[in-house]
Amino acid sequence: MRVLTRFLLSAADARQFPLPGTPEIAFLGRSNVGKSSLINSLVGSKIAKTSSTPGRTQTINFFEIRRPGKPRPDWIFADLPGYGYARVPKEVTAEWPKFIDPYLLDRPSLALCVCIIDVSVPPQKKDIELLTWLRHAERPHIVVGTKIDRLSNNQLRNNVQKLKEELLVQEVLPFSAKGTTGHDELWRKIREAAGTDASDGMAG
Ligand code: GDP
Repeated sequence: MRVLTRFLLSAADARQFPLPGTPEIAFLGRSNVGKSSLINSLVGSKIAKTSSTPGRTQTINFFEIRRPGKPRPDWIFADLPGYGYARVPKEVTAEWPKFIDPYLLDRPSLALCVCIIDVSVPPQKKDIELLTWLRHAERPHIVVGTKIDRLSNNQLRNNVQKLKEELLVQEVLPFSAKGTTGHDELWRKIREAAGTDASDGMAG
């Protein structure tokens, strides 16, 4: 799907979040999981920067996403800091819950959390923890398994099965940033969660 993007702001504090209104889609994942690549390939431009640089400021980066011809943004994408990166200084990781947890728990305009996992590696403790937390918080979320291009069909089937069992989720949406696998399906889920098609009476 073709969309137009605009960087809105980087927030390091809840007071800096944009005024809630437009449905928000939050992207979460361990550092280096392929979160930036997923966002960039989805919108067709390099808006998200890699989170794997140690010590990088932990901010939520907000982007307005608009379909061509639409007067207002359809969605706000919120790129959350990568989690579970061992080389990030302790004081930076310690900052994480202070504004990320409240964002995920209380943000009224948050329509969907997209949890990105790497299907080419075994289930990770940090991912299991995040999914448990989101379930507990009763926030709408989906799990996207990226980097499927690294696996054979057999490996993919096995890995997805294992991930579903360990993460206790019904579905892992296969995705690749090096191609178009999963892109249409992820857009469909985003539109569905945000009520986009219903609000303007247009499908597709
Ligand atoms: P982030 O830190 O989560 O934002 O991760 P990046 O998007 O920077 O990706 C981390 C590394 O994984 C980079 O070397 C990417 O080229 C690679 N990568 C990301 N997505 C894919 C994918 O779908 N397939 C493959 N093969 N590599 C990927």
